[in-house]
Amino acid sequence: MDKIRVGILGSTGSVGQRYVSMLSSHPWFEIAALSASGASAGKNYREAVKWVLDVDMPREQGAMKIIAADAGEMKKEKVDLVFSALPSDVAKVFEAQMAVAGLVVVADTSAHRMGQDVPLVIPEVNGDHLAAVEGKKGKGYIVTGPNCTTIGLAMSLKPIQTEFGLKRVLVSTMQALSGAGFYGVPSMAIIDNLIPYIKNEEEKVAQELLKILGSYKKKFRFADIKVGASCHRVGVLDGHTEAVFLETKDEATPEGVAKCMAKFEGEPQRLGLPSAPIPPIIVRDEPDRPQPRLDRLSGSPARAKGMATVVGRIREEPALERGIKYVVLSHNTIRGAAGNAILIAELLMAKGML
Ligand code: NAP
Repeated sequence: MDKIRVGILGSTGSVGQRYVSMLSSHPWFEIAALSASGASAGKNYREAVKWVLDVDMPREQGAMKIIAADAGEMKKEKVDLVFSALPSDVAKVFEAQMAVAGLVVVADTSAHRMGQDVPLVIPEVNGDHLAAVEGKKGKGYIVTGPNCTTIGLAMSLKPIQTEFGLKRVLVSTMQALSGAGFYGVPSMAIIDNLIPYIKNEEEKVAQELLKILGSYKKKFRFADIKVGASCHRVGVLDGHTEAVFLETKDEATPEGVAKCMAKFEGEPQRLGLPSAPIPPIIVRDEPDRPQPRLDRLSGSPARAKGMATVVGRIREEPALERGIKYVVLSHNTIRGAAGNAILIAELLMAKGML
């Protein structure tokens, strides 16, 4: 099988580096173009990037020349699909330009997530929402992945929604520094500290969750769940941890919740997609897990390292009606960004939509 030629927008950033690392040996995709800002264009990737991953930069990509974020440049490199890890303020225009030029865009950015004809997808949870772009093969379209804070939350809620129904969800987050990009939070602001505010994050979590847990039949219908979020930045490098409190519609026990999470699987697992974690949700029963340092790289097989959502401390919450609470962890730049987008692209490929 010929590999699909892909480009990466924002390839030098926190998320972009994950793409480079995860795609460098992908069985279905080949990195044909690396792009970044005008300040980096024309340089070799190795020269332009401040590599922060704890795995080596792939040699081949290190020697590639960075091109401008331009549809014409991508076309020259015969790219079919573009992964976007651009800052949101520039993403709107660039991503739309790429789609108009006939490219498939899979974006981690917030620019188009709430678009009326744009699927917002976690492949295990709502891969069926890709129906919104069915029939657009060869014409160019945009598919988005959610905010890194929403992914672990939505993944852990989906089996509960299916089994017991959901009435209300409250979440308090402890978010990693890499979620703000390399230059996002100065060390002087975060060492010996936490920051109890992340701009626009709480609104994004609530809106995106309802779109993802909703349905698609010719148009998106949002889930009818009350959602409240409080988002906080903590001095952890990678891995967002969240304390979740919820009310179910039907009676649920912690054991019942643990069981439905542990047996949960989605289309990626059924189709055997290369980056699908098996299982997608790992339920831990130790009283002090999940922890970011110990659990953020969970997921097997090897290609799905960091792709699993890890849940622990599932217990009753007597202060709520039919209340359950638990802690969930997911890797923000792998599952929360590049890894989720790559899994979306694999699902598009498996559905014959590329
Ligand atoms: P980042 O580390 O700041 O990287 C930004 C990237 O965009 C760099 O490659 C930068 O290139 C490039 N860029 C900046 N301005 C540009 C322009 N005008 N034209 C073309 N390229 C430009 O950001 P990040 O953390 O990787 O996040 C990227 C996107 O993913 C954001 O929209 C973010 O909200 C989203 N996201 C992030 C996470 C996460 O955990 N970090 C998770 C989910 C979604 P230079 O190196 O040349 O400046």
